[in-house]
Amino acid sequence: MADPAGEAKLELKQASKEVKESENVAEKYSAMTVSKNSEMNMGELSSAFSAVPTHKPVKKQIQFVEDKQEFSRFPTKAGRRSLSRSISQSSTDSYSSAASYTDSSDDETSPRDKAQVNSKGSSDFCVKNIKQAEFGRREIEIAEQDMSALISLRKRAQSEKPLAGAKIVGCTHITAQTAVLIETLVALGAQCRWTACNIYSTQNEVAAALSETGVAVFAWKGESEDDFWWCIDRCVNNEGWQPNMILDDGGDLTHWMYKKYPNVFKKIRGIVEESVTGVHRLYQLSKAGKLCVPAMNVNDSVTKQKFDNLYCCRESILDGLKRTTDVMFGGKQVVVCGYGEVGKGCCAALKALGAIVYVTEIDPICALQACMDGFRVVKLNEVIRQVDVIITCTGNKNVVTRDQLDRMKNGSIVCNMGHSNTEIDVASLRTPELTWERVRSQVDHVIWPDGKRVILLAEGRLLNLSCSTVPTFVLSITATTQALALIELYNAPEGRYKQDVYLLPKKMDEYVASLHLATFDAHLTELTDEQAKYLGLNKNGPFKPNYYRY
Ligand code: NAD
Repeated sequence: MADPAGEAKLELKQASKEVKESENVAEKYSAMTVSKNSEMNMGELSSAFSAVPTHKPVKKQIQFVEDKQEFSRFPTKAGRRSLSRSISQSSTDSYSSAASYTDSSDDETSPRDKAQVNSKGSSDFCVKNIKQAEFGRREIEIAEQDMSALISLRKRAQSEKPLAGAKIVGCTHITAQTAVLIETLVALGAQCRWTACNIYSTQNEVAAALSETGVAVFAWKGESEDDFWWCIDRCVNNEGWQPNMILDDGGDLTHWMYKKYPNVFKKIRGIVEESVTGVHRLYQLSKAGKLCVPAMNVNDSVTKQKFDNLYCCRESILDGLKRTTDVMFGGKQVVVCGYGEVGKGCCAALKALGAIVYVTEIDPICALQACMDGFRVVKLNEVIRQVDVIITCTGNKNVVTRDQLDRMKNGSIVCNMGHSNTEIDVASLRTPELTWERVRSQVDHVIWPDGKRVILLAEGRLLNLSCSTVPTFVLSITATTQALALIELYNAPEGRYKQDVYLLPKKMDEYVASLHLATFDAHLTELTDEQAKYLGLNKNGPFKPNYYRY
């Protein structure tokens, strides 16, 4: 029989070995002053990483899921409007502003059928309307104001050009915040071609602004599935230009290249992946021995998970709900399914508005956290008849079933904050006895034969991504992590990274965090020599062992 206590001890032993190793190496970081306004330059950054002896591939952290995505189809013009592949779920687990301030319905002509050139005469892009560039530029400038850490990284590294020669293909949400990232990569020396990881989230004016400055963007809001793959292909398949780095969000671009351009894929120096799903896919490839490129799992860095998932949702859940429903939350009964990072953020925001919040959980640890944070932990069936709002944040499927939807009261709202549209069984609502009425963009009333209405938001897709904007500052943290991961992979000496999936070193997480502290005029306390010795730490970090959970 397995001995859990013994296993735990062994795990701890291994963990402390890792810490010791990094502490020995930490001596070499002493020149860096991360805590002192983060004055680490790119050379130091690179040498910091070269000093890390073992970038241990992180395996078995994530459960593999069956990859049912189909990558065997080339896009065909004829099939442009077909939806033969279900809308990419992967495209919904990272978060940026979904709002495009320009109306994409004003011109029905597909961008694929338009001949457009930018002011420099280039036509190497495909966006909704290049004439929106000036408006998009203003959007980017607004985003820059709240992304000062990324801008400061840009300024610091601009002269060194650590990405000179990098040819990056990117597949992310195309928003003002991503544009700041892309323009940072360009300022650091990279050439970029970009496409959207989500068919709805592109800010058309931002895509136009990027195309105007020479970034080859292939994306527009409201692409069909066929357009989606066509755009990815146009991004990758460009005569005389071969990508050597990938920045992906969801894994679609990576898989497209892996399947369609294996020879180009083999020569890629590194992949940086942001999303849960994309990371799953990379681990799957790695497990099957088919990953021939080193990859960085940004999703599981502390600076992504503990900030993006928690604070982004805390700040955007109410925005999404209010824009769509105008509902008042004081005294309303809300049940939040899942008390992970996203659930914690949602609950905190709702509680602050005076809502009565219930939580459902399968995990006793998260359930206990919810209890101690002052929430009632219940089974969904116990409260289903009384709640006004259900919010799912589990990353699971069928968390809200048709049977439960049948029992909800008239006027109740149901929505999802998790990555995929599987949490609410929306498909089960598409039956003849129920009537659907689209009352606003992203708001459907599902009407039962007795007249009962349930308000379904964003058809069960990510609420904040579909119906609100998300805070720029949080995206700056993730974007800075992505930029550093690209720099690290691109500059790493041969052999530092094998063909596997890596987590970013903690030192880098701490660096990203320290860059963002200036915004708050936060003053870090420095360890005295005596204290550092007492704790067994290097004065410049890393300050926590790898197994620390924050
Ligand atoms: P997490 O793993 O920290 O939390 C999910 C929680 O749900 C876990 O505690 C788990 O025990 C619980 N759970 C699973 N099945 C359940 C069930 N049937 N009933 C009740 N609880 C259940 O993950 P997270 O970081 O909170 O992310 C949750 C989802 O949100 C993921 O799909 C993630 O991709 C997505 N996400 C969304 C945003 C956003 O902006 N909307 C941001 C980050 C992540």
